[in-house]
Amino acid sequence: MNTQRLYYDYTSAEPFSAEILAICPLEGRGAAVLLDKTIFYPEGGGQDGDRGSINGVPLLDVKETADAEIRHLVSAGDAEKLKPGPAILVLDARRRRDLTVQHSAQHLLSGTILRLAGKHTLSMHLGAETCTIDVDAPELSSDTLIRAEDAVMDVIEQDVPLIIHLCPPEDVTRFPLRKVPPQGEAVIRVVEIKDYDFSPCCGTHCTSTGQLGILRVLGAEKYKGMTRITFIAGRRVQTQSRLLWRNGEIISQALKTPVAETSAGVLALLDRNAALERDLKALREAAAEQKAEALLNKAATDDKAASGGKADGKPSTGGTISLVAGVPVIAETYNASFDEVLRIGRAAQKKTTAILLLASREDRKFAALCSGKGIDLRPLLKEAMEGHGGKGGGGAGFFQGVFDTEAALESFLRDVL
Ligand SMILES: [Zn+2]
Repeated sequence: MNTQRLYYDYTSAEPFSAEILAICPLEGRGAAVLLDKTIFYPEGGGQDGDRGSINGVPLLDVKETADAEIRHLVSAGDAEKLKPGPAILVLDARRRRDLTVQHSAQHLLSGTILRLAGKHTLSMHLGAETCTIDVDAPELSSDTLIRAEDAVMDVIEQDVPLIIHLCPPEDVTRFPLRKVPPQGEAVIRVVEIKDYDFSPCCGTHCTSTGQLGILRVLGAEKYKGMTRITFIAGRRVQTQSRLLWRNGEIISQALKTPVAETSAGVLALLDRNAALERDLKALREAAAEQKAEALLNKAATDDKAASGGKADGKPSTGGTISLVAGVPVIAETYNASFDEVLRIGRAAQKKTTAILLLASREDRKFAALCSGKGIDLRPLLKEAMEGHGGKGGGGAGFFQGVFDTEAALESFLRDVL
């Protein structure tokens, strides 16, 4: 079906009258609306299809088939609201303008990198947030990228016209094309940035470089033997600048540092933070050592008392030594985080071969640690833990578990001791 293509000239958000010729259901993919004429650009040349609406129904995408049919895609539910006949088309002009700016900026950046570094652009992508070009160079220096950005800005400031040449394939040799034109086309569309860059392209473009406003190269990275350059142009730069400046102001106010010096301020803050973390770690380790020492001293005292006949021999928590499978057990429950309990356990483990059964009331967790040879904690603890609704696991020398309630943790401890 031959649709008249008006998208190169129609860039406005004003409603446009057309005719729906047919609505064709697509297997599992909604429906394709066919029009007598369209203002919507179909995806191609690295540029997304337009968005907008047909009689108020939102367009999901616009695609062109291999036999040049332009399909305006809508959801199956929305397709039922449409019927052949007169239709009002509304273009998402803001989105189109943004894509047109990014696309034209891509031509200018690719042409500039070819001029400055002699490197060709092999592929490009115009994303919703940022755009990329893949340049045929294993790397490009940051100096080259800065020079390219500056040269692009010179061309933008000179407001150089973009000229579209429609010519038969045999005529394209008169243009110094930056890339190979498509084969099998009756007419080749050559986009010229006047006297600066020539490229065959079917996308939408600005009419002069001044419309780009500004271009920023955001960065470059190695990609499959090429260099992938990320850039944005036009209002995207404004949006990003606004965001970055706002972030900069917040950091500036927090650090009491001018915006231009916030990076140094943040790095100094991170250094101070790292030093504090080192100090904190050392203090925590020292505290854990002391508590481990206290635990073992208490256990030794209790053990002596028990063997002297003062204790009733009944195992209990609180540093008292009992025996599990013939191995002494030192148990304690702390009003502390499980992390702290683990630090105490690790410190105590270096000083004893007994089984350490330590619990955190705060986190309703316990850990059992044992350095003694031939001990396997799993059969001693797993069944009892699960019997009290606990979940956990571990290896022969380390076992941990967690309970839903403090009462379950405590009944588990009473059970295993
Ligand atoms: Zn183009």
